[in-house]
Amino acid sequence: MAEPSLPEENSTISASVAHRHARPTVSRRRLRVCHECDLLLALPSLKSGEKADCPRCGHTLVRRHANPAERSLALAIATLITLALSVAFPFISFDISGIGNRIELTETASTLIGQHQPLVALCVLLTVIVLPAIYLLSLSWLCLGLILQHPLPRSRQLARTLRHVTPWMMADVFVIGTLVSLIKIMGMAHVELGLSFWSFCAYALLLLLTTQSVDSDWLWFSLDKEPQAPAGSKVGLAAAEQGLSGCHTCGLVNRLPESGKGRCQRCDEPLHPYHAGNQVTLALLAASVVMYLPANLYPIMITTSLGDTTPSTIIGGVLLFLQEGDFPIAMIIFVASVLVPVSKMLALLWLCYVVHQKQRPLSQMSRIRLYRITEFIGRWSMVDVFVVAILVALIRNGSIMSIEPGAGALAFTAVVLLTMLAAMMFDPRSIWQGASPSEHADLSSTGPQRPSKESSHV
Ligand SMILES: [Zn+2]
Ligand SMILES: [Zn+2]
Repeated sequence: MAEPSLPEENSTISASVAHRHARPTVSRRRLRVCHECDLLLALPSLKSGEKADCPRCGHTLVRRHANPAERSLALAIATLITLALSVAFPFISFDISGIGNRIELTETASTLIGQHQPLVALCVLLTVIVLPAIYLLSLSWLCLGLILQHPLPRSRQLARTLRHVTPWMMADVFVIGTLVSLIKIMGMAHVELGLSFWSFCAYALLLLLTTQSVDSDWLWFSLDKEPQAPAGSKVGLAAAEQGLSGCHTCGLVNRLPESGKGRCQRCDEPLHPYHAGNQVTLALLAASVVMYLPANLYPIMITTSLGDTTPSTIIGGVLLFLQEGDFPIAMIIFVASVLVPVSKMLALLWLCYVVHQKQRPLSQMSRIRLYRITEFIGRWSMVDVFVVAILVALIRNGSIMSIEPGAGALAFTAVVLLTMLAAMMFDPRSIWQGASPSEHADLSSTGPQRPSKESSHV
């Protein structure tokens, strides 16, 4: 395929960023705003396998791949096949002296509906199967159009969908949840892994590779070329100072209207005006703190064994694993269900608080690293929710042996989703508020990061 080529014009542009005192106005094509520190930058020309990082905060702006459309299409189709296999065959079965059960993957959600937890069931179904399927079908449709050199209908809408769906896909977290559930029941029953289990592991891995293969910068250039950035845009300065905003979906630099509300002229997504106060994050954090109380006070699951019913809270579950000597599993549940949500709430709260302080503890780089960690770890708290979903589906033999979800499961799912939203709504640009670009980074290091020894011509 003759791929649309990106304009290569930057051998001087990055150097112009290094000349920070001159701040010359450079060509208005291929300008980008770092989403994390708001610095306006010029993209260097990149070969496949290279990436361009922000010289101030280290955020990766663009990563190039060889044959991006073919690569993403092949990976998306392979992932869809493993997903189809994962839902078509038995997932896990267990047996205790003749009493047992065998489940399919979709039953982890459908059983929860029968147990009066439709919202938790919906979250499991969306994050594990539905959203990844939407993502993979949209990506395949997009890539097919680009390979045929004629974008298929609705390609732009689907390209916008990809960015919104990506953070909510949690097949990899579900694999860890399955492993924890298996270790929990292996001690008391004979467990058999079905074909679906192995397909699902392959699906989770391929899904990660597929999301990493997408070069959205190239994708949007191929779909819609690239309009010039607004006149007078100056690299090496914060975009907000110049009344500019970088689109989070397609990357184009737009001028923000006076009202602060505007849409990207290329992809039509809403632009992100700078919110120094992070009020939405604070509101979401307050909601998650409120939900964290019932999540811990109410049982997350209720176990019935030979007519004996035992409710267990999150902490109770951790202590049970400890008593049984399953130290690694107790640690996983403790870290995912207690340490991660609590430290995430505290870290975000602290980041919002220090924005308003004159004497800010820690450097900007340390604070941005803390923010990146909170954003990365948040989704892993879903492990406990998935463990409940799997055990509830698998162990349901009435009064002999069954597990039901408790009210804490819904509250805990709400905590995970609310803290994830709070991290997404936090504006990392507030960390760099008032920072001069020259104070915190050697801008002369701008340029593509080459994995090989090739010398950069930028
Ligand atoms: Zn940056
Ligand atoms: Zn855009």
